Amino acid sequence: MIMTIQKIGIVGAGTMGHGIALVAAKQGFTVVLQDLTEDLVKKGRAAIERFCDKSVEKGKMTGEQKTTLLGHIETTTSLDRFADCDLVIEAVVENPTVKKELFGKLDRLCKKDAILASNTSTIPITDLASATKRPEQFIGMHFMNPVPLMKLVEIIRGLRTSPATTQTITELALRLEKTPVEVNDGPGFVSNRVLFMMINEAIFCVQDGTASVEAIDNIMKLGMNHPMGPLELADLIGLDTSLSIMNVLYHGFNDSKYRPCPLLQKMVQAGYLGRKSGKGFYDYSKKG
Ligand code: NAD
Repeated sequence: MIMTIQKIGIVGAGTMGHGIALVAAKQGFTVVLQDLTEDLVKKGRAAIERFCDKSVEKGKMTGEQKTTLLGHIETTTSLDRFADCDLVIEAVVENPTVKKELFGKLDRLCKKDAILASNTSTIPITDLASATKRPEQFIGMHFMNPVPLMKLVEIIRGLRTSPATTQTITELALRLEKTPVEVNDGPGFVSNRVLFMMINEAIFCVQDGTASVEAIDNIMKLGMNHPMGPLELADLIGLDTSLSIMNVLYHGFNDSKYRPCPLLQKMVQAGYLGRKSGKGFYDYSKKG
């Protein structure tokens, strides 16, 4: 049976969690946003307020709409507040042990017909669902960053996800004014499986001396109409994150075609992690 979603719980008030809370509250859903400490929850709420303030400045939102939106969001540090949610979306650190432990707890405390969803970028949905006794009501809901601006939600069906759950979540994504695209479970789903093969191959081109970093990015931007080159994108995502995603693909498929480029491994070992460390394929240490 398709469920009517009214109250949405979100675990993790970081980059993705606060963005999901914002888009859900904007559409009038009651949202419960949870994180580990008061400070983290406050940080998430402040980021939502900043986004609303900018929207008001740009004339995209009225002051009244901002107040209504913020009024839809309760914040908490306690998981117990998810007990009457129709759906809980998890957006905590990309660590299977942390996520599975959390889903075990959510399964025990959420109402019987509630749906549990993960925003994981790479961890198999079928594996996360195995930590619960409701794998039919478990699904991947992969929002893109920044959540308020990006249209896609990759909807990932685990092996035991029911058609009713898939339909409920697809309809919810439409109500959030997103474009849902359904895929089956598999390492990296579709988005990161395809994207990271391109990024890894671009790094092999640098390693092999086929072209300079700038030349590779220019070819992909000007020739393929990509808004960013693969190497600047890798710097933005973080080279450590990029390496762990390649490792998920490599080990998940057990196929050498997904082997992380040795240059990527070497750069991570050297502490060159991209924008966040000030250096990756580009140098971010100088202003501008
Ligand atoms: P983040 O580090 O910005 O936020 C994670 C938040 O989760 C932190 O505030 C942390 O305190 C909190 N947290 C950790 N363990 C928790 C627990 N047990 N209970 C409650 N809160 C907990 O991370 P993020 O970038 O928002 O990523 C979250 C998830 O979304 C990851 O699975 C990531 O792979 C996925 N994702 C990220 C992006 C991206 O571009 N950042 C894009 C798509 C998907």
